[in-house]
Amino acid sequence: MDVLARGLSREFPNPERVGCPDSSILRGIASHKLPLSQAAPWFGHLSACSPCFQDFNTFRREAAGQRRRIQVWLAAAAVLLFAVGGWLWVRSRPSGQTTAVVVLDLRGRAAARGESTSETSQPSLEVSRNARNLNLELPIGSNEGAYDVALINPNGAELFRTSATAKLEDHIVVLRVDVNLAGISPGMYFLGLRQPSVEWMRFPIRVL
Ligand SMILES: [Zn+2]
Repeated sequence: MDVLARGLSREFPNPERVGCPDSSILRGIASHKLPLSQAAPWFGHLSACSPCFQDFNTFRREAAGQRRRIQVWLAAAAVLLFAVGGWLWVRSRPSGQTTAVVVLDLRGRAAARGESTSETSQPSLEVSRNARNLNLELPIGSNEGAYDVALINPNGAELFRTSATAKLEDHIVVLRVDVNLAGISPGMYFLGLRQPSVEWMRFPIRVL
């Protein structure tokens, strides 16, 4: 029996296949969609009737192919979900990359020396707690070299401290420091800056 004939035999009753189950039943058995109680009576026939068994095998391969296609689609959907989820996660992170690097221009700013906390009339510097890198443009006349950088609270306690090396960049002495201010409460502080064995210069700074 060629393919066309077999195909037709599924859709139309074939006189040679009197007593054979309907193709929908074979399909149901092959795809495991038919309840066992309805499928079981045909098992004996399937084992004895060659055309039915061939149809059954064809349906079973089709069903397997369909399952594979569904699996491929599910996998693709999962990948898409992860991609969209990841994108949303990156977007919704509180920091955003725009605030990661903060430039603070200290040129022309008056610094309080030592322990005195004299107020200046200048607006305070501002830095987000999400900042990860500060680019400090040091006051005119500052030296290149090693500096300590600290966040100092109004009581004089250091909440964060790190060290970095200032370099002359395009006529400005720039100190690039990595910071982690995630644990700092928003409020007014001082940005402390000093070269080794020199007293702190303090700049009022607002942590946002
Ligand atoms: Zn049959």
